[in-house]
Amino acid sequence: MFTLTTGPVAAWPEVLRAASRAIPFDHDPQFLRFYEALARKAQVALDAPLPPVIVQGEAVLALEAAAASLIGPRDVVLALVSGAYGGGFATLARRHAREVVTLAVPADEVIEPGQVQEALRARPDITVVSLCHLDTPSGTVNPADPIGALVAEHGAFLIVDAVSSWGGMPITPVSCSADLFVTGPNKCLGGPPGLSLVAVSQRGWERMRARNLRGSVLALLDWEDAWRADRSFPFTPSIADVHALDAALDLYLAEGPEAVQARHTATARAMRAGAAAMGLSLWPRRAAIAGDTVTVLRVPAPLDTGAWLDAAREGYGVTMAPGRGETEGKVVRIGHMGPSAQPMFAVVALTALAGAARRLGLDLPIGMGVEAALASMP
Ligand SMILES: *Cc1c(COP(=O)(O)O)cnc(C)c1O
Repeated sequence: MFTLTTGPVAAWPEVLRAASRAIPFDHDPQFLRFYEALARKAQVALDAPLPPVIVQGEAVLALEAAAASLIGPRDVVLALVSGAYGGGFATLARRHAREVVTLAVPADEVIEPGQVQEALRARPDITVVSLCHLDTPSGTVNPADPIGALVAEHGAFLIVDAVSSWGGMPITPVSCSADLFVTGPNKCLGGPPGLSLVAVSQRGWERMRARNLRGSVLALLDWEDAWRADRSFPFTPSIADVHALDAALDLYLAEGPEAVQARHTATARAMRAGAAAMGLSLWPRRAAIAGDTVTVLRVPAPLDTGAWLDAAREGYGVTMAPGRGETEGKVVRIGHMGPSAQPMFAVVALTALAGAARRLGLDLPIGMGVEAALASMP
């Protein structure tokens, strides 16, 4: 079986072994010290200003916690929407904000910094901005760093969803000036779904303290000091996932952020060279706005998305993902994340897609696709 999905990804064997370790008592001093070391390790990996919150739930819960913890009834939120996750955050924000202003672009496009600048000028009362860096269902990547600089200049708080990009692409909480930066282990880090990481800036904590949401699974504030060995947890952490995260971060740091990113980039390059040679087109309007951790391909006529993916899975044991929201029924998505971010997996995906298409009556030039993928590898 080849799991070439856009998350969850097949976790690394070392990570799964760590998840199977015996569960200690969460108040055991040794576990408390281990947890503090893990939080500091995560801070190093994220290149974050402070130890991040290890949220006890996968990333959608962390995004909802970010909205509930930071946004209050006096806030005007600018939701930047270039796809399903950006749009989903706007919905979460509406539960808490006085008003949510959306700046939306078509799902095969990205948000330009100039558009953000204009939106901030038009509404000086905007206090929070939300951005999904790489909107995974469409595979497009927004220019988070220049957008973050504009938001910081305006004085608003910035919430960034980097769940599917961090680790595989060059973005950090500091590079994009995020006050809350959400990511997770089950994409580029190659861990299981179950936890997420939220890096918070100093002023992000100050704002959350002023807002004072406590006593809730959505309250990030409850976890502000929980990473310290001399503090206890608001509730029992998901210890098996915590062990797994520790192992995933060890692998990430041992390989090195640049090498991990290069592996993701090389896989995307091979996949795209092969897809183009087989006559398949990207969903993003321009190659320059396509992220490196997922390749989103338009489904060519006369194929049907579900039938194509089923034929790839049943015929060749290769699992890839369909679209979601705007891209549902229009695309197939090949993840290059964590363990699947290795250039030869592009060859696996290309041959499975072409073999499956042939079974369904559409001939794609398999050989040309494989040649082009191989030629892209140094
Ligand atoms: C995967 C992902 C999430 C988390 O959602 P899942 O329920 O794990 O799919 C959030 N944001 C983005 C951009 C993602 O790709």
